[in-house]
Amino acid sequence: MEKAQAEFAEYGATGASIIELSHRGADFMREYQRADSFLRELLGIPENYHVLFLQSGATGQAAAIPLNLIDDKNKTAAYAVTGHWSKLAMIEAKKFCTVHIAADTVADNYSTLPQTIDIPDDAVYFHYADNETIHGVEFPATPPSSPVPLVCDVSSNIATRPINVSDYGLLYAGAQKNLGPSGVTIVIVDKSLLHPRAETPIVLNYQQQAEDKSMRNTPPTFQIYMVALVLEWILEEGGLEEFGRRSQQKQQLIYDVIDSSDFYHSPVAKDCRSRMNIPFFLSDDKLTAEFLRGAESKGMIGLKGHAVLGGCRASLYNAMPVAGAQALSEYMQDFERRA
Ligand SMILES: *Cc1c(COP(=O)(O)O)cnc(C)c1O
Repeated sequence: MEKAQAEFAEYGATGASIIELSHRGADFMREYQRADSFLRELLGIPENYHVLFLQSGATGQAAAIPLNLIDDKNKTAAYAVTGHWSKLAMIEAKKFCTVHIAADTVADNYSTLPQTIDIPDDAVYFHYADNETIHGVEFPATPPSSPVPLVCDVSSNIATRPINVSDYGLLYAGAQKNLGPSGVTIVIVDKSLLHPRAETPIVLNYQQQAEDKSMRNTPPTFQIYMVALVLEWILEEGGLEEFGRRSQQKQQLIYDVIDSSDFYHSPVAKDCRSRMNIPFFLSDDKLTAEFLRGAESKGMIGLKGHAVLGGCRASLYNAMPVAGAQALSEYMQDFERRA
């Protein structure tokens, strides 16, 4: 952010801001190339995958995915429903294809991961959300063998641990949690899987956007520039191994407090606890407002739980330093002592 601030009013010696430059000009193209090549380097994305920088969020991609991967509305895609976001993606897909529910953990209030996943051989793909941002549930690893390509929403945990991209047919993520500001969405897709329909909107047509280097319409230039800066920072800090270590450490600091006390509790099963989002509750809910106020007075904001769950939620994205999780852990223990 400091680097962006320093060069905001004038980018290089262009006499213009990055937000004033043409997306077709050499200066912005350099930024686009930086974002593309840093992401390919960081995630180890093979040549046979397109990398797209689009708009309309992960929510837009929930519609775009069937419209690009399934050329016939009657064909089937399999969906695992493990929380708020994978459920919304499934509901959206139903408008554009036949949906087979491969697993659904609603009976456990989305606090577990499915024991079994049932994927029909004739499904075009299997969709799941790697990290459920609201329910705080994360797949510890790529689900075991699927007969069909994996399509994965990595909006809240992209670039937070090593990944083998070739295990997936398609990965997608809004940038705003781990990679930069809101307004740009990354799609990484195996070129051989694209079968867009004639009626697929042109801005959501992955084939067309790939041919036009994400510039079929004006791309979100400032956001792409910011993502390039964040990716460069992640690489300089040590890449995915390092951020995997940090996220584990941050998660442990908070869950250690929750596990060692009856004052706080977590709804999430131990084997699928998210490293990114930790929903937790005070056993005496009357103290929650005071807990949040006290945190805010110490500069710790954004701890109020999502409206869907209530309580509190600690989000530990890449930009949150280990020291931030340490400070929250200390505050939680201190608050308990004083209560
Ligand atoms: C935030 C989030 C979304 C929604 O992203 P938008 O960019 O707001 O559409 C979808 N899936 C997951 C897992 C998320 O965390």
